[in-house]
Amino acid sequence: MAIKLPDLPFAKDALAPVISANTLDFHYGKHHQAYVDNLNKLIAGTELENKSLEEIIQIAAKDPAKAGIFNNAAQVWNHTFYWNCLKKSGVGNPTGAIAARINDAWGSYEKFAEELKNAGITQFGSGWAWLVLEGNQLKITKTANADTPLARGQKALLTIDVWEHAYYLDYQNRRPDYLSAVIKDLINWDFVNSNLG
Ligand code: MN
Repeated sequence: MAIKLPDLPFAKDALAPVISANTLDFHYGKHHQAYVDNLNKLIAGTELENKSLEEIIQIAAKDPAKAGIFNNAAQVWNHTFYWNCLKKSGVGNPTGAIAARINDAWGSYEKFAEELKNAGITQFGSGWAWLVLEGNQLKITKTANADTPLARGQKALLTIDVWEHAYYLDYQNRRPDYLSAVIKDLINWDFVNSNLG
């Protein structure tokens, strides 16, 4: 029962020009695929072989000897979650319940967007910017490398990948421009709302 690479929830060219088909060829087709392949090699023949991806992450997070498994499993999960967070909406501002929750927590969508962008900019090196629920509290966080809210008792609502492989082909070193464009044009607020539960 190997872990499978899920299909992308959109066509490879659907996010252009904010994220190009070329970036998705490498990011989904090579990087995400490699995390899946590496994870399957690492769990083959072990007690984790028949566990769900979420179970593997929880078990490996507590065991330093399983750091390699944790890194690959968390990266598989984080990337699938990231793809689901993206959609060529052209909307920008959030809709539904999350819009009200963001206004309550940050005072305005603009303030929230600025803080989310800043989390991505200030993540030193590779990692992720997140909107999470901690208890019933909305929080903007950032994680390094493969680290994930799942391993921190938080519920992920939204993420943006800030590894260089997420933006370098389209933006080179301009991570802030990538973050601005994704936040403005690509957030799938229906998915974010569905995560609120
Ligand atoms: Mn990535």
